[in-house]
Amino acid sequence: MSRFMSERLSKLAAYTPGEQPRDMAYIKLNTNESPFPPSPSVIERINSAEVERLNLYPDPTAAAFRAKLAEHYGVKPENVTVSNGSDEVLNFIFMAFCDGGVAYPDISYGFYSVFAQLYSLDALAVPLKADFTIDYRDYLNLDRTIVIANPNAPTGIALPLSEVEEIVRSNANNIVVIDEAYVDFGAESAITLTDRYDNLIVVQTYSKSRSLAGMRIGYGIANAEIISDLEKIRYSTNPYNLDRLALIAGEAALCDSGYYADNAQKIIETREKTASELKELGFVMTDSKTNFLFASHPKISGENLYTKLREQGILVRHFGGERVRDYLRITIGTAEQMDKLVSVMKNITSKI
Ligand SMILES: *Cc1c(COP(=O)(O)O)cnc(C)c1O
Repeated sequence: MSRFMSERLSKLAAYTPGEQPRDMAYIKLNTNESPFPPSPSVIERINSAEVERLNLYPDPTAAAFRAKLAEHYGVKPENVTVSNGSDEVLNFIFMAFCDGGVAYPDISYGFYSVFAQLYSLDALAVPLKADFTIDYRDYLNLDRTIVIANPNAPTGIALPLSEVEEIVRSNANNIVVIDEAYVDFGAESAITLTDRYDNLIVVQTYSKSRSLAGMRIGYGIANAEIISDLEKIRYSTNPYNLDRLALIAGEAALCDSGYYADNAQKIIETREKTASELKELGFVMTDSKTNFLFASHPKISGENLYTKLREQGILVRHFGGERVRDYLRITIGTAEQMDKLVSVMKNITSKI
């Protein structure tokens, strides 16, 4: 650290993204990307994009894309803000709405605690139950902003919409943020509640089910006043946060909903098959409604398993926290990739 770094930020522990390795060709099951390419419309529109116009700034209002997203979700354009990955809209939310403190599950997306530190917020980490579930009653009448990933990560467990609604209803004077990065793999979206509750923000991303992690597109859907607050922050930091290609790709993907729904269905089927095969090998895991499994084996430590998989060319995610260190988060890839994973796991577990 240089001697010029802000005192306030000197102790900040930054978010650690999963590895994007370059040393060899791994089966990459560590960052929850889709194993499938973007849809045909996206590829075609990007290939025919007017690259010679990249000398001009993109539309700072993202009007066409927001209109299309609004139509897709049955809301109005003034209920939508778009961002450079959903991490950016989450950043804006932590900046804008957390003066009275923030609460999130103790085991959840690592960025929440990073943002809380970044803005020196009073943060409450609410413990998950022993089985890694969220008890929605822990979040009723909390006098602070609430951020919940639904389904949660890295546990993969989803709350039913009725429980999300209870949380939103009982916190009418606080913002409730539902981060739906994985919602397309089996959970119920809370977008349908945004016209009834003026304290609810739903955040989604193109990085998981829409095969565009490399394009960096996210969005938030909420009441128009909340969106205008978020837009104020966007205009105060980076009004051109989505570039011309991202605006094109974002819009084009919405023309191919069937393609993405089919891919999500394939991933769900592969997830269920992989889960039952791993259970036969003695693994225990949560009931995932996402594109990953959160699994451990009673006879081998998470770190050891991570290393052995890596030696065999398979990359998964291992977290160091006390309650999760014996678990691996394994992204669901193609059926072939998961067959390979299971066969390598069979080999490893046969030797212990
Ligand atoms: C992947 C992920 C995100 C952010 O993804 P972006 O690539 O920034 O859109 C946000 N929340 C959760 C829970 C995630 O897993």
